[in-house]
Order: sequence, then structure tokens, then C-alpha cells
Amino acid sequence: MEGRRGTNLPRVADFNQAVILDAVRHAPDGLSRVELAEVTGLSAQAVSNITRRLLDRELIREAGTLVSVGRGKPRTLLQLHPTGHFAIGVHIDPTVTTVALLDLLGEVVASVRTLPASATPPRQLVTAITEAAAGLVASTGIDAGRVLGLGIAAPGPLDQGTGVVLEPPLLPAWTRVGLRELLHEATGYPVVLHKDAAAAALAELWRGSAATLADFVFVYLGTGLGAGLVSGGELLGGSTDNAGEIGHLMVDTDGPVCGCGRRGCVGPAIMPRTLVTEAADAGLLPRPAPGAGDREIDELFTAMCRLPAARPVLERSATRLARAAAAIANLLDVRAVVFGGPAWDRVGHVYLPILRDTLLTTTEARHVHPVTALGSALGPDVGAIGAGCLVLEHSFSTRPSTLLLGPRDDQVAAVP
Ligand SMILES: [Zn+2]
Repeated sequence: MEGRRGTNLPRVADFNQAVILDAVRHAPDGLSRVELAEVTGLSAQAVSNITRRLLDRELIREAGTLVSVGRGKPRTLLQLHPTGHFAIGVHIDPTVTTVALLDLLGEVVASVRTLPASATPPRQLVTAITEAAAGLVASTGIDAGRVLGLGIAAPGPLDQGTGVVLEPPLLPAWTRVGLRELLHEATGYPVVLHKDAAAAALAELWRGSAATLADFVFVYLGTGLGAGLVSGGELLGGSTDNAGEIGHLMVDTDGPVCGCGRRGCVGPAIMPRTLVTEAADAGLLPRPAPGAGDREIDELFTAMCRLPAARPVLERSATRLARAAAAIANLLDVRAVVFGGPAWDRVGHVYLPILRDTLLTTTEARHVHPVTALGSALGPDVGAIGAGCLVLEHSFSTRPSTLLLGPRDDQVAAVP
């Protein structure tokens, strides 16, 4: 990935600070001040001033010296200060809500699960999240003043301007919930909100399987299906940050009926509810009750994934998902598709070989470069990690949109 260049104009000091932080973040072994000046294009004096400020604020730390060969004097290496600041990430999936405390590197310090959104009214869930976040801060003994903010990864569609969760198809009781404002009022933290799959893609970008890739798609498998798109090392949001709705890609005219009324969309073809029903149709599982809740379906799904006889059901689902993944890879010319989310750990062993084979052998770009299928290395908490990374991204970002503090800036301030 090409480094970002800075400017020496004092009126954009915040931008230069972000440029330095971004450069340090991408060099886990550390960078000297001389290297920082080379990478960012900033003057030695500017680098010296900014790094002193960042050291004072415990955003970076000195991490040993680099003894150069020849005449030069030893250079002090600078790294992010892992425990200088923290972020809280909240992932809301219909069947599980996860709250995680991340350090400045995006590593999980502690995490906890709380009430599922599908069975909890929004205000009650906000209270549960607030208590869970306070509990994490208290149990780890960190200073709450070092928490930069709270990120939420939620099912879309979202109104980013107002921080409102609109009408997620899988959360019928949630209609226009002002989640960002509610959580800001309850916790006191600056709050940033994004779609679950986009947050998960950000987690991969920061510290997952795709950390060295600039162009990839993250396919999120939870109660539903979504995608986070990354191009040139940045999330592709579309005009309202609602990009990535892949659920209605047509993959099999004989597939299950979708909520949109058509047959063959990929969304229902991978949904645990559909797969459990297909396994029950084949006599492999007890049939779920007509109004079975998401938790009950999730438990049946776990049992089903352990049944060797249910493997053909999973393989057919994987084949349908692979067709959608190949279409997305063709559309965006990515080098990898990363799969993860709460359902992935249970199906990955069956899905991954099928996804790998389809992407390697059927994508149009295969004559130019391989398209790889990867399983997320971040486990089922990838959404919560991504939510925390949203805070870090907003705090570190060099993108102009996140430096212009205003009512639409998701309330997350630039790094203090
Ligand atoms: Zn559909």
C-alpha cells in the first residue's frame, strides 16, 4: 500500500498528526523519525514536533533503538502505544450481542456477550450494552478517560447522517432506532455506527487475514448475509454507506424462496433458518416450530453442522454462496474474498474448499491473478473487533471527511 503524504502547513496539523499515526500503524516493528520523514514527506522539524506531541499523549511510544551500519547515530524507533488508549466495539447480530474492549493495536483486551437484539427491545439492549461496556472497563482496571469512543456494528440499512438503524429485515421490532444517540447518552462516549459487514471488513484490514491486502471483499455470515467492500485499502461505502447488500444476487433458480418474493437469491440460501429447514425436510433434524426464534434456530444449526449426514445440505449452500462470491469478485476485481462472522466457525470446514475452488477456477481475473478464498482468522468476534476498529479508524484516519468535525462526523473526535 502506498504511504500517505503530508503537508507542512500548520493549519492542517491534525492532518499531519493522522499521517504520522497512519505510518506508524502500518509499521509494527517501528519507524525512526528519519524514516517517518521519508515515508510521509514531512520535514524533520514537523516530524519531531508531532512525534513529541504524540509521545506526550501516549499514542506512540519509543521502542528501542536501531543501530545503523556506518557513521549514523542510533535511531530511536517509534511504535503505537498499545495501552495508551482503548476503543469499545459493539456488534449487534440478531442472535448475539458482543461487546469488546480493544487496545490501540486493535487487539481484544476483554470481551463479553449480552442480550440478543432479536429478543430485546432497543432501549433495554442499550442499557445492557452500557452495563457490559462499563463492566469491561472496570474489570480490566483501565482509565475510562483513555477510551477514545464506542463503535457499533449493526445490521443495515442505516442512516449514517443521523446514526439511525432503519428497518433491518431480520429485526422486525426495530424501526428507525436512533442507536448512536441513545448509546452516546447512555455511555457518555463518542459513538460511531456502521454496518456489520463493513465493520468486519475493517477488522480484517486492521489485523485479520486481509491485513496485507488493499483490495478484497469480506462476506459476513451471521443470521443474514452481507458484504464489506475494500478498495485501495479503504472501505467502499457507496453514496450512503449502505453498499454491500449482496443477499439478492440470484444464484440458483431452484433455490429457496427469498423474502423479496423471488426464488434463488443467495441470502436465504445460506441462512441458518433455511439450512435447518432443508435438513429437517431430509429427516435429519427435528422440524423447528413455525414461529421458532433466532436462538432456537441457532442451536439447531449448531447441531446440524456437526451431523455428517447433513454435509450435502451445507455443500449445496456453499456452492450457491460460491457463485455469488465469484460474481462479486468479477465486479470489483479483488484479489481475495474473506469469509467470516458468527456462523462461519460452524460451516467453514465444509464451505472453504468449495469457495476456494470456485474462485480459483471461474473468476474472469484468474488469467491475470488468482482470487483467493480466505477464512477470517478473527473468529466469531470479528464484528465487535471491527466496531472497535471503526473508532480507531476515525481517530487515526487521514481522510478529509473524518477531519472536518461537524454534526455529521459521527461524534468521534480526532485523536486528543
Ligand atoms: Zn431476494
